[in-house]
Amino acid sequence: MIFGKHINRYYLKYSYILLLGLAALILVDYFQLKIPELYKMVINGMNTGYVEFNGQAETFDIDFLLDNICLPLIIVIIALVFGRFLWRICFFGSAIKVETDIRNKMFAHCKNLSQQYYQVNKVGNMMSLFTNDLETVQECFGSGILMFFDAALLGCMAIIKMWRMDWMLTCFTLLPMIFLALAATIVGKSMTKKWELRQEAFSDLSDFSQESFSGIAVIKAFVKETKELLAFKKLNIKNENTNIDFTKTATLLRIFVTLFVESVICIILGYGGYLVYIDSFDAGELVEFIGYFNAIVWPIMAVSELIDMTSRGKASLKRIGELLDSKQDVADAPDVIELKDIKGKIEFRNLTFRYPGTERDVLTNVSFTINPGENVGIVGKTGSGKTTIVDLILRTYNVPEGTVFIDGYDVNKISIHSVREASAYVPQDNFLFSDTIENNIRFAYEGSDKDAAVKAAKLADVHDNIAEFKEGYNTVLGERGVTVSGGQKQRISISRALIRDPVILILDDSVSAVDTKTEKVILENLKSTRAGKTTILVSHRISTVENMDKIIFVDDGKVIAIGTHDELYNECPAYYKMVNLQKLEDEEDID
Ligand code: ADP
Repeated sequence: MIFGKHINRYYLKYSYILLLGLAALILVDYFQLKIPELYKMVINGMNTGYVEFNGQAETFDIDFLLDNICLPLIIVIIALVFGRFLWRICFFGSAIKVETDIRNKMFAHCKNLSQQYYQVNKVGNMMSLFTNDLETVQECFGSGILMFFDAALLGCMAIIKMWRMDWMLTCFTLLPMIFLALAATIVGKSMTKKWELRQEAFSDLSDFSQESFSGIAVIKAFVKETKELLAFKKLNIKNENTNIDFTKTATLLRIFVTLFVESVICIILGYGGYLVYIDSFDAGELVEFIGYFNAIVWPIMAVSELIDMTSRGKASLKRIGELLDSKQDVADAPDVIELKDIKGKIEFRNLTFRYPGTERDVLTNVSFTINPGENVGIVGKTGSGKTTIVDLILRTYNVPEGTVFIDGYDVNKISIHSVREASAYVPQDNFLFSDTIENNIRFAYEGSDKDAAVKAAKLADVHDNIAEFKEGYNTVLGERGVTVSGGQKQRISISRALIRDPVILILDDSVSAVDTKTEKVILENLKSTRAGKTTILVSHRISTVENMDKIIFVDDGKVIAIGTHDELYNECPAYYKMVNLQKLEDEEDID
């Protein structure tokens, strides 16, 4: 059985099913122990012609055999079949329910984890928590309850019956079991550790496979297939070794159990035979005693299986617990307000920011104001802090109090949901789901219809491309949208944001993969359709933002200047230099 903070409640939640299973188990165990009594009657009846039945000596004939041996045996068999069926359904069924519940809980928790968490923890590892580890916990829950109670119930009932027959023989029988319990406890501890290592090795393998498949284009382009294969083999061997290591210990435990069981059989035969010899036992009683012992062999085996399983279950539950206990580091404070009707004013006041766990400020004393309805460009070299600024508007990371304001409210005082609900963001990594183009666009706004998707696609200048696909808007995109070009992907992502017609629209280098003509069309469409709404366009290219109402020019995490293109060109030497440099680069590209 497995216990822990994240599983205990399910014993209570499914207690009614588990209790039904337990009742079935008691029934099975009770009837199972009737069989040795029937053995005794058959052996003694065949030996002497008489059997002791209800305190009287009865003749052992065909009628007795049919009425008192065969008929009860049939009843026992029916009870066993029915009972075993019922406990299987109850125990294993509830284990599957627990697995589903925990998986839902894990997914819900994962959704609330910050972006930082996903940057630190790899997807492959998380996938193995959702599959391998969860299955282990499920197995441990269902089979664990069964084995624990079966071992306890059948073991106790059989021992009581054995004790009543001969306490001395019972003591001889149970003595080796104490050593077994000791050995099993020690080995069990080392097995938990080994299972943890095995799961870690498996996670590494999953991580690697996942990254390899995602980055297959890069691997092929650089002809690194062999290198990848060798690296995979290395991880696979590590996985194999940890598996073998665990299996070795598990096998050792099984050998131990078998050894003890066999040695106990020797003791029963030796001492029991002696009891028959001195007439303290008859042959039927010795067979009955062996029958009881046979009945507890499975529980004894179950104990070793239980230790093995619990060790694995504990290790896997610990890993799952680490995920479930991971802090939602970007979360609403208890007293936040839900801000309705956001107008789109954004203000940064002396914001200095560094990423969690790092030593360097990536933004220093950043201050600016974006008024509702303004079209603003944030421009600067790659790595200057532009994405960080927009991430902070959307509260992707925590921001210090009194530094970022939406409509005059400190973002720490309003719910994250209200800020994100009022915004639409097109990130640099234009992730598209493996779904139709229409569903990808409508993803951002559930109340939308196909017409809205078409309208948004037209604004993002991708409608004509989509119409050219055989299936049009029903074209299913491959994983990460690989069946469309980079530029099309960007424009489908822009459509997805535009369909919401948000109060605040943020495009992060979202037109970098489209040609200048298309870029112009999209920017003009934005200007004409977003009157009165705030639009922020992040770019490392000045030409993309030069027609915006206002440009925030950043360099090395600092706001260098704010103004229109002409103002900055005339008044800010760094901006002037960058404009000329980019013009030169463009001319070189044309040549
Ligand atoms: P830009 O968008 O202008 O290219 P970014 O805002 O992405 O720049 O990055 C600014 C700086 O912050 C860079 O030095 C980058 O390495 C660093 N940075 C970005 N993301 C993270 C992160 N998640 N953790 C730590 N540092 C980061």
